[in-house]
Amino acid sequence: MIDLHTHTTFSDGTSTPEALLQEARSIGLRALAITDHDTFSGFDAVLPLAPQHGIELICGLELSTQVYVEQIGRSSQVHLLGYFLGQLPPPHFREWLTTISSLRYARNLKLMAHLQAKNLAIDWPDFPLPPQTLSRTHFANVLLAKGYVPDRQRAFDLYLSDEMLGGIERKLPSVAEGIERICGAGGLPSLAHPVRLPFHHLALRSFIQEMTGCGLRALEVYHSDHKPEDTNKFLQLTADFGLLATGGSDYHGQNKPDIMLGKGRGNLCLAYTLLEAMKESVKDRHSPFS
Ligand code: AMP
Ligand code: MN
Ligand code: MN
Ligand code: MN
Repeated sequence: MIDLHTHTTFSDGTSTPEALLQEARSIGLRALAITDHDTFSGFDAVLPLAPQHGIELICGLELSTQVYVEQIGRSSQVHLLGYFLGQLPPPHFREWLTTISSLRYARNLKLMAHLQAKNLAIDWPDFPLPPQTLSRTHFANVLLAKGYVPDRQRAFDLYLSDEMLGGIERKLPSVAEGIERICGAGGLPSLAHPVRLPFHHLALRSFIQEMTGCGLRALEVYHSDHKPEDTNKFLQLTADFGLLATGGSDYHGQNKPDIMLGKGRGNLCLAYTLLEAMKESVKDRHSPFS
């Protein structure tokens, strides 16, 4: 079994990278990708430890990008997974990620001021991480811990969803730019949890077709949020557009307690052959004869 979509305490997961490796070992995972939001810090922290756990550790990330959606008249977030299989990400890509985290920092400053102006008594010492790495999930946790909301979802519905944030969303790269940057860094880009894309039917098809033209290489066909019919639909789309299938649980530890490492909501059990196909395709790309 493998899991190619997980989060650590370096983004909005609750397991440290070291604890995640131990959890992976205890359930017998053969390969694990750490795909924190917009950072490699969790992966970097445990790269040297993976061999002693007998686990193949894959370098990845989940990049936040955006696309403009005409039907709703505003941009919507799209998450891209990037997998670095042949080579680790080069310095220029890591530097570009620091510009992304400074945009997160600016958003979080505004978000804090916005929430404090609503008489919610929260401040930076309430958070486990510095402001440049915090996600809205952390804000939801603090609002929950302080008793302002009965659960995390209510924190989003009342204060943190795109709709409630109005003008203070993060500035994000476009999906096309994200794909190009991942490819330019030698990575393999996959559209994360495509069931959440803000398109349906023909618009979904043409979006995937357009992104394939930009260099998209895979869809995350297997994901905890996918029902069997979603998985079948996205598998068919990979066949239609010559894309690979990737998959993972999207494990966040206690921040999404119904999702288990490797098994998702109980319905996942991904074979190593999925990763082999990804490696094979990267090898072909890097080959001087291709
Ligand atoms: P951020 O990267 O800081 O913008 O936070 C994004 C995270 O917030 C996503 O990965 C989701 O886990 C969560 N999120 C965003 N919108 C919602 C929503 N409407 N309901 C629940 N969770 C959400
Ligand atoms: Mn997350
Ligand atoms: Mn995501
Ligand atoms: Mn994720």
